Amino acid sequence: MPSTEGVIVILGTGGTIAGTAASATQHTGYTAGALGAEALLAAVPALQGRPLEAESIAQIDSSNMDGATWARLATRCATHLARPEVAGVVVTHGTDTLEETAYWLHRVLAPQKPLVLTAAMRPATALSPDGPQNLFDAVNVAGTPGARGVLAVLGGVVVGAADLRKVHGYRVDAFSAGDAGPMALLEDGRLRLLRPWAEGTPHAAAAHLPGLLAGQPWPLVDVVTSHALADGRVVEALVAAGSRGLVVAGTGNGSVHAAVKAAAERAMAQGVRVLRASRCQLGGVVGGAPDDLPSAGTLTPVQARIELMLDLLVEAG
Ligand code: ASP
Repeated sequence: MPSTEGVIVILGTGGTIAGTAASATQHTGYTAGALGAEALLAAVPALQGRPLEAESIAQIDSSNMDGATWARLATRCATHLARPEVAGVVVTHGTDTLEETAYWLHRVLAPQKPLVLTAAMRPATALSPDGPQNLFDAVNVAGTPGARGVLAVLGGVVVGAADLRKVHGYRVDAFSAGDAGPMALLEDGRLRLLRPWAEGTPHAAAAHLPGLLAGQPWPLVDVVTSHALADGRVVEALVAAGSRGLVVAGTGNGSVHAAVKAAAERAMAQGVRVLRASRCQLGGVVGGAPDDLPSAGTLTPVQARIELMLDLLVEAG
């Protein structure tokens, strides 16, 4: 399956895949991001002899993902993907914000080559860690001729960046491809493609990557959840604190408590960009009434948040 001709670059960012615990039976309370990219590769002897390069971008718990790391990661991915001898790039990452980083890279890079994210739910020191197999699979997908776009590989399943959702906080089988389903499966070392590879089109905000790398501030965009007994205080407080965009994570098919909606409409009247998504794990927002807040469609709340940040970057010029 994999092409051994092209170089695959492994970029480490931390997460549980690089996590170490005091005992092999410990699956919580470990230190995420303790190991660098070279150490992760060393744990997969089956990759020895392959043309691989490793580089550590960060060693963080992905729940602490920050704008500087996102800008550096996207820039390093773009640099390596532009090298003619590189077939693909693999990013090792924490699972907590994997779907956000995947969507960010998808929207700013939309690469013609495979950019494959992988992660693990169990630390590297576990009795049965899931990281080494996931890394092996990710390298194979990154070396697959014809593969392209931002993909996530976990548990033998290949998921497109726009479809990726973390749906479980603890189990090894923690991710879903939503309504779209997986792109491909890895079975006994073979890739079974279920639908055509697709790379998308980069957002115009991609031109701001050098500025973000140099420390340009990211637009302030926040997510507000609609729920029983909600009121407009959170929206009002965020607008007062400088939010330029708000995503309302609505109930069900994107319905929003009348008090939150009224506050969001007041925010829009002040120039704040608002999108209405759904807090449900699966599905997005279908249809709606003419007086509803603007719909985020199939985007999850965190994806809609990234879209608003990108739009605001372009609007700011
Ligand atoms: N908190 C960890 C992280 O996202 C969880 C994981 O990687 O599974 O870095």
